[in-house]
Amino acid sequence: MRIGHGYDVHRLAEQRKLILGGVEIPYCLGLLGHSDADVLTHALMDALLGAAALGDIGRVFPDSDPAYEGISSMVLLDRVMKMLWTRNLRVSSADMTILAQRPRLAGHISLMCFELARHMEIPEDRVNVKATTEEGLGFTGRGEGIAAHAVVLLEEA
Ligand code: MG
Repeated sequence: MRIGHGYDVHRLAEQRKLILGGVEIPYCLGLLGHSDADVLTHALMDALLGAAALGDIGRVFPDSDPAYEGISSMVLLDRVMKMLWTRNLRVSSADMTILAQRPRLAGHISLMCFELARHMEIPEDRVNVKATTEEGLGFTGRGEGIAAHAVVLLEEA
């Protein structure tokens, strides 16, 4: 077994889509970033790369590269999964937490799990996404940004 942890933050901004776990969520603000700024999928990819000792997404997909401008993070996740599969690594489980004061995410969690499980090619009952507020404290509490943590277990196939 190999364990990996990922953490990411993106700033909320106007005239951006809010995409979390590959799911577009209706909201007046979206996350700012070079790609689609899907903070949840970024944390997950960092956990996957970390467990495989392959560095981090900044190293694998440099944001100085115009090829990644506006790209769907699910396309990047597919590339990370190919890197794992070629090393005979499979995802055993993934657990994630989104830190966001707004919007309410409860109604979107099951679709995020479905999408992430589909791209990792594992059963949905091995993927868990949670969302919490930070009680109005800090940058997530003030609604300035959204953060996400991810923990994964990999096993050799
Ligand atoms: Mg990021």
